[in-house]
Amino acid sequence: MTAVVDANPQDRAGDPDHTRVHELVEQLLAGHPPAGTAPAEFLGAQFDAGLAWVHFAEGSGGLGLRPELQRTVQERLALARAPHPYGRNPIGYGMGAPTVAMHGSESQLHRYLRPLFTGEEVWCQLFSEPGAGSDVASLSCRAVRDGDEWVVNGQKVWTTLAHVSKFGMLVARTDPNQPKHKGLTYFVVDMEAPGVEVRPLRQITGEAEFNEVYFTDVRIPDSERLGDVGEGWRVSLTTLMNERVSIGGNVPPKGSGPIAEAVKIWRDKGYTDPAVKDQLMCLWTRAEVLRLTNWRASQNRKVGTPGPEGSIGKVAFAELNKDVTAFTLGLLGADGMLYGSYAMRRPVTAMSFDNPHQAFLRCRANSIEGGTTEVMKNILGERVLGLPGDIRTDKDRPWIEVPRS
Ligand SMILES: Cc1cc2nc3c(=O)[nH]c(=O)nc-3n(C[C@H](O)[C@H](O)[C@H](O)COP(=O)(O)OP(=O)(O)OC[C@H]3O[C@@H](n4cnc5c(N)ncnc54)[C@H](O)[C@@H]3O)c2cc1C
Repeated sequence: MTAVVDANPQDRAGDPDHTRVHELVEQLLAGHPPAGTAPAEFLGAQFDAGLAWVHFAEGSGGLGLRPELQRTVQERLALARAPHPYGRNPIGYGMGAPTVAMHGSESQLHRYLRPLFTGEEVWCQLFSEPGAGSDVASLSCRAVRDGDEWVVNGQKVWTTLAHVSKFGMLVARTDPNQPKHKGLTYFVVDMEAPGVEVRPLRQITGEAEFNEVYFTDVRIPDSERLGDVGEGWRVSLTTLMNERVSIGGNVPPKGSGPIAEAVKIWRDKGYTDPAVKDQLMCLWTRAEVLRLTNWRASQNRKVGTPGPEGSIGKVAFAELNKDVTAFTLGLLGADGMLYGSYAMRRPVTAMSFDNPHQAFLRCRANSIEGGTTEVMKNILGERVLGLPGDIRTDKDRPWIEVPRS
């Protein structure tokens, strides 16, 4: 792996917070050499040192520092080949943790964050439904209060990693008489609770990364609610904003990922055609522009929660991945048509590729998952550029009166 070069080392000199983080990372590595430490143990020690998310509060995996200092941690740990929590629990790490940190009670922070970070408890996102995807606020899954508990009935769909998850982030309708955004409440649901049924859904790769999830009289203690009753949309926005950045906002090492595979195959195959090289260079440049754009966005983020501009990285990431993986398959010539096996597989993590063929097929979904490219463009148009919004006739009507198919 290529080392990440510090873009602006002078910014860091003399910064006591940076020095503190740097020293803590060195202590972590000295006490838990990654090569000889089980991943969950290493990540547990990282959490306890406050190096999981440095901008979270002390005791919750953080140090109460500026979020951009997390890069110092990540860069050093990547060089030391330490385990990364994303691969073990992508949805929990990228979306669950920031949502719990922002809206959770003290006891929820204490209960959820550490095993989420170590990957001992995987999380999934229970938002989309058969009748509510882009317009997720129109969802129908119902939660009805019964004393200190809520009783949930309904169906979710496209739930990535539900089959290996301990907890799910569930948005349910608790007041159908309110307009769609106002009658929602957000819960953390135990995926092992009676009445939760997970069924595989197969993808174009042959794998079933995602699932249908059915809820039949599932009981959730009120203590597992995140945010107030009726505030589910506000809490969901934290999850959704982080989802976009989690999918499209990474700052990988320069020239790594899908573009590295393209360059490798171009070299291995001995291509000399300048037109092919020109295409490769255009893609490489786009990958680098995205990397630097995401770097700038992460440096500018003064608080943990990304804003609507996070959609820029998501759109660019989706289109770039599709183009790079299609180009790579083209470089393989006739071999590009051979796919290992469409046999049903149940991955334990999401978006991990074993070969360029799988990457090509899986990347088709990048412009759908986490919000479609069309919806991202709407967000950018309306909330970043200030263009006139879509006409929304159901916005202020009670949800129960809005016709549904
Ligand atoms: C691989 C993968 C993993 C996923 N994982 C999860 C998960 O873990 N949890 C979860 O909750 N969901 C998950 N999803 C669901 C995903 O969030 C939805 O598929 C997505 O939001 C789109 O919803 P939809 O499929 O219902 O399409 P629809 O909303 O029905 O959209 C259909 C088409 O209409 C377009 N469209 C819709 N509204 C507008 C508009 N206002 N303006 C312009 N165009 C519009 C869309 O862009 C799309 O092209 C996953 C999806 C995929 C593909």
